[in-house]
Amino acid sequence: MFLLPDYRVRQRDYLLNISRAITAQLDLGEVLRMILQAATSMLAGEVGMIALRDGDDYHVRAVIGVDAEDAHLFDPLLEDLSPRTAGEFDMSLLHLKMRRVARVVDLNLSQVIALPMVVANNLLGILFIFRAYAGTPTENDNRLLQSFADQAAIAVHNARMYEFANQERNRLAAILDHSADGVMILDGGLHVERWNRALSRITGLQAEQAQGRHHDVVIRWKHREMGPDLQEAVDNGWPQRLSGDAAPDTLYVEGDLERLDGSTISVGITYAPLGKSNGELQNIIANVRDITHFREAEQLKSTFISVISHELKTPVALIKGYADTLSRDDADWDLGTIRGGLKVIEEEADRLGELIENLLAASKLQAEGMRLNLDDANLPLIAQQSIERFQTQTDRHELRIEFPEDFPIICGDATRLRQVLDNLVSNAIKYSPKGGEIVIRGRYDDKWVRVAVSDQGPGLPEDQLERVFERFHRVNNALTNNTQGTGLGLYLAHAVITAHGGRIWASNNPGGGATFSFTLPRRE
Ligand code: ADP
Repeated sequence: MFLLPDYRVRQRDYLLNISRAITAQLDLGEVLRMILQAATSMLAGEVGMIALRDGDDYHVRAVIGVDAEDAHLFDPLLEDLSPRTAGEFDMSLLHLKMRRVARVVDLNLSQVIALPMVVANNLLGILFIFRAYAGTPTENDNRLLQSFADQAAIAVHNARMYEFANQERNRLAAILDHSADGVMILDGGLHVERWNRALSRITGLQAEQAQGRHHDVVIRWKHREMGPDLQEAVDNGWPQRLSGDAAPDTLYVEGDLERLDGSTISVGITYAPLGKSNGELQNIIANVRDITHFREAEQLKSTFISVISHELKTPVALIKGYADTLSRDDADWDLGTIRGGLKVIEEEADRLGELIENLLAASKLQAEGMRLNLDDANLPLIAQQSIERFQTQTDRHELRIEFPEDFPIICGDATRLRQVLDNLVSNAIKYSPKGGEIVIRGRYDDKWVRVAVSDQGPGLPEDQLERVFERFHRVNNALTNNTQGTGLGLYLAHAVITAHGGRIWASNNPGGGATFSFTLPRRE
């Protein structure tokens, strides 16, 4: 008899336990050891071993009857053993190798039984039993033994499928979490099932706070600009198409969302429905994109166009008007009138030139950042030249400078620093139309120099002190609205000073008027 006498009863018990262990999804090593235990004891074997196939190679995955550290001594048996299907093993060769291994491990082994582990024609591994005596198995014995090998194969297959499914799930979760766009998955009743990291960033709501809650509780529109309300759309029969090859019936909604901290953010949400095989709505995948920058760019574009058209029109109209008047055939202008007219034409042309200069500088700044030509810069001299030039343009203002004698020469881009001072002085004149004193003061310590331009105009509203440095930003008041400008001068000044490693800010003087100050590091 090849198997022990009570083998049928025992085998049934063993198989039952094994299949329980497989369904309970125990650790694969554990299940394989159980199978080996059963098979070895059924066959009165000394050693049992399961080797799993990886391409053409086999690796021992479970062993009983020898210490796990000695399992590698059985490796010679696995060499050149490469049937990819459950074909015949070369048993005589296996026996030969086994005898060699037996000598090394010092065990009395005289027979090896090798059972292929197959699932769906796929050879996953081999179950080996080594015995101290040889016996010939009957057809029936072989069938029973094979059922152990089959169980082992199923366990391996299940474990791999489980691992694969797990990996896929983790991969999908990682894709979702690393997506730059916010993504949420809703169930058919519009409750949140998944909420990724980007969406937490956009809304301020963590996944735990959002999951399980209704869409409308977590997506709160402050203002919807485009597209319907999701719940309304669903109530009205959205989505119309769920199955078939037609493009999915998506919804796009755009507007301002209220974040958890009460602030708002502009987003565009695309809802895509996912149907069950019976055509019912299973999930809605919503893609949430932060479109703040896009909106800002749009806003900037329209500001740009209105500023440019307004600022270009006035000087062009003046130049054209004076040129027309002066060139009339029927008029005989005296020299004073001609000079006056030409002066206006020249000034307006200068203004146009400056406007174009500023626009180019601003767009260049955006494209390539600020580049400086560093050299010695003599700020008192630059300030002096600036007030001399501007004093000729006004008789309402009195311009002067106050610099200590030993004010240091700094390392900076003199051309750009001149632009900054010119801009501050020109603003001081423009925005104090009633006149007064305009002073450029210089101070220094061992680390910094500081220059401040103050005027005696109306000053600035407190909430505008920082905003005036934004691109195209102009204060919305009568004084500014009646004064020409693009809102670029301080933006450029800020860029120049920051590029030097300095700081620029605006403040109001206690006795009225505005002061624009900047610091620059003292570098040799
Ligand atoms: P622009 O003068 O071309 O409008 P700027 O960037 O130089 O642009 O200035 C931005 C805004 O800051 C101005 O439109 C004006 O409202 C305000 N501003 C600048 N300088 C002064 C000042 N000295 N006093 C009051 N307001 C000022």
